[in-house]
Amino acid sequence: MAANWQRGLMRLMRITNYPTEVVRVEDFTPWYRRIVFRGPELTASVEAFPALWLRLWVPNPAKGQDGLAQRGYTVVAMNSVDETFSLDFVLHDVAGPAGDWAKAVSVGERVEVALTPAKIDIPHDTKSLVLAGDSTALPAINSWLESVPSEVRTMVFLEEDHTDRDKLPRVERENGSWEWVTREGDRGAALARAMSVAATHQPGLYAWAAGEKTLVKHVRLVFREQLGLDRAHHFTQFYWIEGKATG
Ligand SMILES: Cc1cc2nc3c(=O)[nH]c(=O)nc-3n(C[C@H](O)[C@H](O)[C@H](O)COP(=O)(O)OP(=O)(O)OC[C@H]3O[C@@H](n4cnc5c(N)ncnc54)[C@H](O)[C@@H]3O)c2cc1C
Repeated sequence: MAANWQRGLMRLMRITNYPTEVVRVEDFTPWYRRIVFRGPELTASVEAFPALWLRLWVPNPAKGQDGLAQRGYTVVAMNSVDETFSLDFVLHDVAGPAGDWAKAVSVGERVEVALTPAKIDIPHDTKSLVLAGDSTALPAINSWLESVPSEVRTMVFLEEDHTDRDKLPRVERENGSWEWVTREGDRGAALARAMSVAATHQPGLYAWAAGEKTLVKHVRLVFREQLGLDRAHHFTQFYWIEGKATG
């Protein structure tokens, strides 16, 4: 009962849970997995936009046999024609209900998802877009790269230590740069240094970042203090916290 208070609250708020079925699993690396879902009701009623994410309900054995946990994942490749969408999972070493579920998933499994869409509107006169984060933000970064007009210059800064990071899915743009950053010390410290060197304040600049909490703190400081961006020109979000389960 207590395990599922979030479901009760969402029911009260009339937030729909959509049924989905796993139809395919694709591994880019041993630690980054795409799961393709069929979800006709979802794809018929939701329009995708950059960084759209959903709440995935997965079993949470720690909360008993029927326990469920809710975790955020970014919607990838939504397709209303074949009624599918995908989620890209970082299969992290530390146990967690969503990561564990994704590691053990099989085709045909059914799970529910819920959405509370909140669109981020970037100013219409944006000329350059800085996108930063860790691999949990990669699906959202790719969705930005797919969506912004071709004349917008994009600069991606991604902190990721795995040596096979080049195998991750990456949307290419003519008018864009991509910098992998290897962690040194605090999460996000090296990322912030790389951004400070490569990105400069300029008219029409917008910046977006997500990932681990400490990483986001470092990056946000660069957005505000070095790039001089006010609230209307940047957005940051913690996606996870090192050493702490979500919820
Ligand atoms: C809006 C939003 C969008 C997101 N989109 C994505 C996405 O597209 N892909 C994706 O992979 N994640 C995404 N995340 C992050 C994901 O929800 C978290 O990583 C979540 O903690 C995973 O849940 P879990 O049940 O596996 O682990 P939890 O039970 O939350 O945590 C258990 C332990 O695992 C650790 N942990 C959690 N995530 C990681 C990680 N990535 N690396 C190392 N250790 C970790 C925690 O610190 C904790 O110690 C998103 C989060 C939000 C809020």
